[in-house]
Amino acid sequence: MRLGSSWRWQLSRAMRLTLRWCRPHRGGRGGGSKPWMSSQILDLWNYSKLLLKSLYFNSLTNSDTLLDCAFEPVYWIVDNVTRWFGVVFVTLVILLTTSVVVIVYLFVLPTILNTYPLHWIVWHLGCGHWLLIMVVFHYYKATTTSPGHPPKDKLQIPSVSICKKCISPKPARTHHCSICSMCVLKMDHHCPWLNNCVGHFNHRYFFSFCLYMTLGCVYCSISSRDLFLEAYSAIERYYQTPPPDEDYTETTAHKSIIFLWVLTSSVAVALGGLTLWHSILISRGETSIERHINRKETKRLKEKGKVFKNPFHHGKINNWKILLGVEKRSHWFTRVLMPSSHLPNGDGIVWECNFNRKDPMAI
Ligand SMILES: [Zn+2]
Ligand SMILES: [Zn+2]
Repeated sequence: MRLGSSWRWQLSRAMRLTLRWCRPHRGGRGGGSKPWMSSQILDLWNYSKLLLKSLYFNSLTNSDTLLDCAFEPVYWIVDNVTRWFGVVFVTLVILLTTSVVVIVYLFVLPTILNTYPLHWIVWHLGCGHWLLIMVVFHYYKATTTSPGHPPKDKLQIPSVSICKKCISPKPARTHHCSICSMCVLKMDHHCPWLNNCVGHFNHRYFFSFCLYMTLGCVYCSISSRDLFLEAYSAIERYYQTPPPDEDYTETTAHKSIIFLWVLTSSVAVALGGLTLWHSILISRGETSIERHINRKETKRLKEKGKVFKNPFHHGKINNWKILLGVEKRSHWFTRVLMPSSHLPNGDGIVWECNFNRKDPMAI
C-alpha cells in the first residue's frame, strides 16, 4: 500500500486536530463554542473517512482491479460449481458411454452377426472394439493424468512471470487454473467433462479421446442407421394404432436404438466441431489460452507496425509430431493408432522457441 504525499499531509493534519479534540477544553471561548464544535465534528468525520480509506487505498488500483474485486464472489461461485459439477459430468460420460456400448451389444451386434456377410462381420468386430478400447484408454488417462505443475521446491526455474495467486515463478505457457487453485504447465483449459485441467502431460490424451470418441459416435451412428429408421417407423406405427398384445421387449429394443442413434449423432456433431477446433490450434502450435493472448498481441503489434510471431509454432507437421510424441515413422502406428502411455517431449518448463522461419502464423 502506498499513500500519496497529499494523503500523508491530510492524515497528519487530521491527527493533530484529533489530538486537540481529545485535550481538555480550558474555556475562554465563550459564545464561540458552537462553530468550534461543528468544525471539530467535521474534522473528526474527515479523519474517520481518511482512516477508512487508508485501509484499502492502493495507488495501483484501476477500474479492472475494481471490476475483478466486484466479480470475485461470482468467480468463486462459478469455480466451485464447476469443481462440483466435474464429478457429475464424469459420471454422465461414463453412464452414457456404457449405455451406448450395452445397446450396441444387445441390439446392433446380433443383427450384424445374423444378417451381414463374413467380411463385414470381421470389420465391425475389429473396428468397433478398437474404437471402444481407444476411447476407454484415453478417457481414463486424460482424467487420471496430472497436467503438470511448476515445481514448488525449485525457485530457480526459467520463468516469465510470477503467479499472483500461488506467489511462485511461472514458466512460459504456464497459467493459473482458478478451479484447480494451482498453476498448470502449458495449460489449455479446465475441462469439466474430465474434471481435470488439460495441460502439458495430458494434452495428447485429451485430444485422442475427443478424436476417438467422435469416430466411435460416427461409427455407431452409421452402423445403426438402418435399425434406427426401422425402429422409428415401428414406434410411429405403434403410436398410431397400438397393438392389442404389446411386446415390451420389442418396444424397448426400438426405443433403445432411437436413443443410441440420436445420442451418437448429436455427440458426433458437437464433439466433432470441438475436435476440429483443437486440430486447428495444434496445427498453429497454440493452446486455447494462447489463442486469445496471441490474437491480442497480433493486434497490438500491428498497430505499432510490427509482426507477431508465435515462438512455439514449429510448422504444421512438426507441431503434430511434438504433441503426439512421434519421433520415427513406426510411432504413427504404435503411439497414435494404439494405446500408448509415452510421456510428451520436454518437461513443460523449458520450451524451444523458433523465430528463424517464415510461416503462415507469423502474419
Ligand atoms: Zn498459480
Ligand atoms: Zn483446472
